Amino acid sequence: MIQLYQPLNFMGMVYREIKQAVIDIEMMFSILQRDAEIKDKPNAPALQAGKGAVRFENVVFSYEPARPILKGVSFDVPAGHTVAIVGPSGAGKSTISRLLFRFYDVSSGRILIDNQDIRDVTQVSLRSAIGMVPQDTVLFNDTLRYNIRYGRWDATDAEVEEAARLAQIDAFIRLSPKGYETEVGERGLKLSGGEKQRVAIARTILKAPPILVLDEATSALDSHTEKEIQDALDRVSRGRTTLVIAHRLSTIVHADEIIVLESGRIAERGTHHQLLARNGLYASMWNRQREAQEAREKLAQAGEDD
Ligand code: ADP
Ligand code: MG
Repeated sequence: MIQLYQPLNFMGMVYREIKQAVIDIEMMFSILQRDAEIKDKPNAPALQAGKGAVRFENVVFSYEPARPILKGVSFDVPAGHTVAIVGPSGAGKSTISRLLFRFYDVSSGRILIDNQDIRDVTQVSLRSAIGMVPQDTVLFNDTLRYNIRYGRWDATDAEVEEAARLAQIDAFIRLSPKGYETEVGERGLKLSGGEKQRVAIARTILKAPPILVLDEATSALDSHTEKEIQDALDRVSRGRTTLVIAHRLSTIVHADEIIVLESGRIAERGTHHQLLARNGLYASMWNRQREAQEAREKLAQAGEDD
């Protein structure tokens, strides 16, 4: 953790200096994570983002030449629709979100937003069109207000607080020692995974991008927190083009399309009901999760009876 925090601290300092020029937290992750070879084309125009239709066309990708990760993945997220990606760990789900952000370039195929190849536009304009709620949110060692305002620097205090309310984190913040001025991070208040995620949701609400990418936390949250986060996510994704990488299938039952990724290929696709009827990989994942949920409920019930 120390090794991770130090570069982030440093980045935080740098970013404070140039925050007028650099808009996004995703930028910081891009610098930490991406292939240094990713550069804007000379005189690349800005993305002309409309409603944010996303298209993956036969995308092939490998981090290392010898090991293909995505082996020809095609799908559309029509503007305003929600597409969910599910599948076993290591299938390549998060890789899809990294490619959409252009942390890496595809090996072949292409990714389009509103009919523009993402390699042809500036990275700044690309990333300002996409809001990301990642699996593990990293906060700056700064105040809660600063961490939310990161979504849009010119937001007023009232807008920051309204975003926090919509993300269901406002009440928590008001009960913190210094409210919105409470410092978080290493030397400040420690937030739980669910609280950090809601800060990230508030940030994204403030940013109001046409495209949303939600990478659900793998670790189980308690069911109350999970419901609060789900409500906040439902609110922020309404009317936006949303790509959700889901671990809990119960959260994506209403997705317009569910894509089941297995070893870098699309194994199944359809709505929840179509996939259940198919009785394949999705149906078995669904049944397994339902049984686990029932077992947890029985245990909780037994605990109450004692
Ligand atoms: P998922 O989100 O479906 O669990 P990922 O997309 O994170 O899977 O990863 C897919 C595969 O790519 C995994 O085998 C993982 O080990 C590998 N991988 C992920 N990131 C890197 C990286 N930076 N370098 C090399 N391999 C990676
Ligand atoms: Mg993942």
